[in-house]
Amino acid sequence: MKQSRRLLDSLVAGKISRIGQLQIVSSEEGFVLCHRDDVGRNDLRDGEIDRAFEIAKFDDAGNYRPLKTAPNLQHGWKIFARDLLQAEKVIDAIYPGRLAILHAFKSDQLVTTSLRETLDRQSGMYRVAAKISDEQIDGLVGNFCRSDGGCLRTILWKRDTTDQIPSFKLPLEKFDPAVDQYLSVKRPRSATAAAASIPLLCQEACNLLIAACREAVKMEGAGPSAP
Ligand code: SF4
Repeated sequence: MKQSRRLLDSLVAGKISRIGQLQIVSSEEGFVLCHRDDVGRNDLRDGEIDRAFEIAKFDDAGNYRPLKTAPNLQHGWKIFARDLLQAEKVIDAIYPGRLAILHAFKSDQLVTTSLRETLDRQSGMYRVAAKISDEQIDGLVGNFCRSDGGCLRTILWKRDTTDQIPSFKLPLEKFDPAVDQYLSVKRPRSATAAAASIPLLCQEACNLLIAACREAVKMEGAGPSAP
C-alpha cells in the first residue's frame, strides 16, 4: 500500500492524473476524483470516500457491474480526497488491486500467467474450459476483452507458452501499457490515444473470461440442434 502510494505520488506529480475512466484533479486543498467525462460539470453530487465502493458497483442505469474495469463507470459524482492516501483509497475501491499491480509492473516484479495456464489449473465445473480451441480463444477474447464495451485493461498475458497474443481481433494497442485504452476507443489510431494515463493492467485472465471460455466449449459441444 505504501509503495503504491509513492507510485501514485510520482504519477500525479508528473501530471498523470487519469486512470481508466477516473480523473484525479489536484488542488492546494487536496484532490477531487470524478468520472473523466464529467470534468467541468458543476452539478456533480458530492460523495464521501466510502461511497466509492457503491459507485463502482452500479452503472448509470443502476445495473450491477460484475467487471470493475468495464468502460461503464457511472457518471454524476465527485469525491474529495484530502491527501494521496485518501485518493488511493478511492482508486482502489473503483479499480481494486490495479495500483498494486502497476507498482509490481513498474518494478519489474509482475508475473503474468498465460491463458492456457490459467485454464489448465481450473477445477470442478470450470475444468472443461481448457478444451477451448485457439480459434475460439481468438474470437472470444477479441470480443470479451475489447476496450469499446468490454474492458479497459491492457492485456499482458499471452495465449500460451508460444508467446502468442491471445487474439488477432484486438488492435495492438490493447497490449500496450503506454496507450490510454479509454481514449483509444474514442479516437482510434490517433496519436493522442497514447496520451499519459495510468494503465489498468491485466496480468492474468479474469474469472469472467474463464466462465465465458467454459460457455464457448459447452456451446460447441452442444452442436447444432436437430430440426
Ligand atoms: S481477462 Fe482481463 S482484459 Fe479480459 S475482461 Fe478480464 S480483466 Fe478485462
